[in-house]
Amino acid sequence: MVRTCGLGCAEAKVPCRCAAMGRTLSGEDGSDFPGLKGADNGCSGARWNLRAGNGPVSPGLDAVAQVLAGREDIAGWQEKLYKDVHANPELGNQENRTAAIAAGSLQEFGYEVHEKIGSTGVVGILRNGEGPTVLMRADMDALPMAEDTGLPYASKVTARDAGELVPVAHACGHDVHVACLLGAARLLAEGKSSWAGTFIALFQPAEELADGAHRMVEGGLAALIPKPDVALAQHVLAFPSGHVGTRPGAFLSSADSMRITVYGRGSHGSMPQLSVDPVLLAASIALRLQTVVSREVTPGEFAVLTIGRLSAGTKSNIISDRAVLELNIRTFDNETRDLVLDAIRRIVTGECSAAGSPKDPDFELYDHYPLTKNDPKATARVEAAFRRHFGDKASALDRQSASEDFSEIPDSLGIPYTYWGFGGIDPEQYAKAEAAGTVSADIPANHSPHFAPVVNPTLQTGTAAIVVATMAWLEVKT
Ligand SMILES: [Zn+2]
Ligand SMILES: [Zn+2]
Repeated sequence: MVRTCGLGCAEAKVPCRCAAMGRTLSGEDGSDFPGLKGADNGCSGARWNLRAGNGPVSPGLDAVAQVLAGREDIAGWQEKLYKDVHANPELGNQENRTAAIAAGSLQEFGYEVHEKIGSTGVVGILRNGEGPTVLMRADMDALPMAEDTGLPYASKVTARDAGELVPVAHACGHDVHVACLLGAARLLAEGKSSWAGTFIALFQPAEELADGAHRMVEGGLAALIPKPDVALAQHVLAFPSGHVGTRPGAFLSSADSMRITVYGRGSHGSMPQLSVDPVLLAASIALRLQTVVSREVTPGEFAVLTIGRLSAGTKSNIISDRAVLELNIRTFDNETRDLVLDAIRRIVTGECSAAGSPKDPDFELYDHYPLTKNDPKATARVEAAFRRHFGDKASALDRQSASEDFSEIPDSLGIPYTYWGFGGIDPEQYAKAEAAGTVSADIPANHSPHFAPVVNPTLQTGTAAIVVATMAWLEVKT
């Protein structure tokens, strides 16, 4: 059984707030990754150990194996890069250092590079003759929370988030995504003689803020890249490392947050007869909203309605004049989403009217994540390629109640997409927890301060998954 992961800003256990504020970084200087201020940028082909892009193809190996043959050669570089990005996390739309690493590396590999798309977005384009075009996306941002993994490369970074100094950690594994995409981008560049077409590596900001993909679209992404035939993305999840899994159709839920302000009439705590008490009104709404999923959504359809915040008043002897409720809503289809949102508005308005509220309630939708619904044909092609390469370590995944903004990119380009998960947990540790029935307690999921993907085979698997899925589209040469 694969556990539901915690990815997706709207269900974070920490606040996800965006601010283009100043920040402090530790370990910013002295890194040996290209594109960084103060770094040793004198990388040469020899230093990257690049294999000749147009060299002869070894007979007896298929094209995927040809490209993946360089994996061992890049393993040391990739692990170092991963640990560096992990130790230096950046909040959404502030990923300047990570974006510089991505852009500098892509340039070294021979990609045409575009930077600062939206905010810190980067794309690298590798044109390799006539053939299909494949886009692969990795997100780059971290979370405003303290890391508690005890790892030697754990983050000690703090940054400004809406003016407040907060700890920052890669607790969702986007550092893994960056390292895997750069690894795959390098292997595909080095293995150019094994395929034809165009590969686009896209590094997206601010997934946790639900606006990074949107910003790249608004920032003119479509004009910078050739139109892809397919878009791909992946996420490291809390299941055994070495495994990959996907599913056709709805994979990740759509998510919405809604802030509702209801109005009462303030009064002295000793004179309730003069008031319209918003605390009682909010309490009544909180209970009545529980009927939306249980009584209005068709049994068997998925919907989550959580009231994550309810606040009113300042002091015991004052009846406040308003209350605020913050809701989180998850669904797997747009009809259910509309039904739930309409029911919330109807119930809240009705309760306000019943209470004699002096003013209509205010509804504010924010942090919207679209539904991630995998194209069946594109998914079938990736699934078949995964089965060929990973054997019984490729499987079907359950739907995840987490959410993503990736689909805004393919949807804006009018192209199909597929999104898959790969494991990040030490297989032995996972097997022990599974045998003891303690997976929930002992295996930290995404957004936990203890989330600590094992470096390998996680990086190897995530890198191979990109190469395998990409080459399921590209024209291969054997
Ligand atoms: Zn996340
Ligand atoms: Zn994530």
